[in-house]
Amino acid sequence: MGEKKKKIVKTIRVDVDKCNGCRACEVACSAFHAAPQYSSNNPARSRIRVIRDPLKDIYVPVYAGEHAKSECMGRGKYTIDGKEYDECAFCRASCPSRDLFKEPDSGLPLKCDMCESDPALSEPLCVQWCLADALIYEEREEEVEEEVKSEELETGLESLVNKYGMDKLMETVARMSISKKG
Ligand code: SF4
Ligand code: SF4
Repeated sequence: MGEKKKKIVKTIRVDVDKCNGCRACEVACSAFHAAPQYSSNNPARSRIRVIRDPLKDIYVPVYAGEHAKSECMGRGKYTIDGKEYDECAFCRASCPSRDLFKEPDSGLPLKCDMCESDPALSEPLCVQWCLADALIYEEREEEVEEEVKSEELETGLESLVNKYGMDKLMETVARMSISKKG
């Protein structure tokens, strides 16, 4: 058992009824994560995507969550308040069954990082740019077991192995370590 420590849990509450599908959140997120920062905006690079079907008045902002190595064996279909949502509509995973939440050039999975790379931000950028107040930022303190977190590194490496193969990856790492030593 690890030691207990205090942790700030960050949440973005989504009020679907207030979302009007403007996609400002997608633009803001993709610009924030562009390299160099704010040099471009491409919603395909956004860590939040808005499921839209204007004819059915459906607008659902979804945040990119954990990477899934394989697709689900079964699919869920939801009808809420008489509106029927597509399969996978609420799923947060970057998974092989669809293009959502994948970096368009490399295919690497995208995951919302709560804009933590800029500690100067008072609130995540998508929340600031949602003028309809459909995204509400909340923080709370929780006690958790201390643990060593290597999930993100593993996810990135796994995707590279899937894309390029283990041999190619090992070869590249070996070449990099030789050039660093020299
Ligand atoms: S919190 Fe930041 S990283 Fe996450 S979706 Fe919003 S803008 Fe993107
Ligand atoms: S910025 Fe707000 S209102 Fe616009 S699509 Fe995103 S969540 Fe919906």
